[in-house]
Amino acid sequence: MDLDVRTILVLFSVLSVMFAGLVMFAGLNTRLVISVKQWALACLCIGLGLGLCFFFKTTTDSAKLALLVGCTLLGASIVLQFNGIRAFRSQSSYGWQGLLFIALVFVQTAWFEFVQPSIANRSIANSLVFAAGYIACSFMLFKYIKPAVKTATYFTGIMFAVLALVLLARAVFIYQLPTAYTLYSNIPMNPNSLLLSCLLQLCITFGFLLMLNRELVSEIEHVAARDNLTGAFNRRELESELIRLQSRYERSGDYYSLMLIDIDNFKLINDNYGHLVGDEVLRRFARIVFASIRAEDYFARYGGDEFCILLPSTSVEDALSLANRLRLAYAKTPHIINDHAIQSSISIGVSESTSAGNDYNNMISAADKALYQAKDTGRNRVSVIM
Ligand code: GH3
Ligand code: MG
Repeated sequence: MDLDVRTILVLFSVLSVMFAGLVMFAGLNTRLVISVKQWALACLCIGLGLGLCFFFKTTTDSAKLALLVGCTLLGASIVLQFNGIRAFRSQSSYGWQGLLFIALVFVQTAWFEFVQPSIANRSIANSLVFAAGYIACSFMLFKYIKPAVKTATYFTGIMFAVLALVLLARAVFIYQLPTAYTLYSNIPMNPNSLLLSCLLQLCITFGFLLMLNRELVSEIEHVAARDNLTGAFNRRELESELIRLQSRYERSGDYYSLMLIDIDNFKLINDNYGHLVGDEVLRRFARIVFASIRAEDYFARYGGDEFCILLPSTSVEDALSLANRLRLAYAKTPHIINDHAIQSSISIGVSESTSAGNDYNNMISAADKALYQAKDTGRNRVSVIM
């Protein structure tokens, strides 16, 4: 099949402009809008850059000028993609380094177009500089990134790396050509490498869209799973987690403990100081819990001023010891909120799966009974019913 270089490039030029719109609409009004704007602008630069580079099939001065602007736009697109990735990782843009990169592309293209005209040298120089830019993008994507977006990020990173390899191969190929090289030379490498580069660039844009999608889905999942006042998991998630734990422990024969915690006389705090102060007390309690539990423990708001902690592979003795540490840490100092010194305490009921039975309802009701016992016997205490 004979592939015509200009047809390929005009096609991809139009596709890139369309993708600019797609990326923009996919990520507008999200927290990731800075990345989205840079990636959409990069697509636009690629579209315009390709169009300008290959619009003229002559070597007139206007064609050379168009090529200079086109190549510079392609250089700018790499900087935008790189800075978009940094913004995605909540990092600031590389300002002067980016400008330096664009200036380098501009100067070397101008040099080989106007000062010492050589299409081969220009193509080699630009291929090498672009490859370096793509390697930097790939490297940025492979550095640690959230597990939720890992697959999408690795996919995009690999596409950048392959694109860099294609450009390096193109530079080597042109370098060792025996005859003078022009873009429209009748050699299969030209359309093939260009077609491959354009396809890879489209895959990169797909990768960005995938990264956006994964990040937004993980944010939605995070919000849907949590209580927004305290950051603890919500009751729906707690119930699902308990069911997951149950089936895991049925298979492994392992055990776990559960704690129900209720703030003592919380209603009085609301009545005396107002609901906003009450809210702050709930937040501070949650902070104390987050600082005291292990990564595998599961902290959830059961409802109102009642909380639950699931403690995998934890004996009742260890659960009681953690419960007492929490009780003392919470009651130890008065909480200073809006100039009010609030002395407050918690009561805790503990249950364990080997004695209560590995069942969601049994575990909750055993801990609930223990919690009532703690309240009945004077509050600010930990109780368990064996
Ligand atoms: P006890 O020691 O028996 O637990 O007494 P208590 O006053 O804590 O009684 P109870 O548990 O019934 O009171 C819970 C109160 O918590 C009642 C409700 O108005 C309040 N509450 C529930 N959710 C919130 C919230 O999100 N913010 C605030 N400020 N108050 C809440
Ligand atoms: Mg209470």
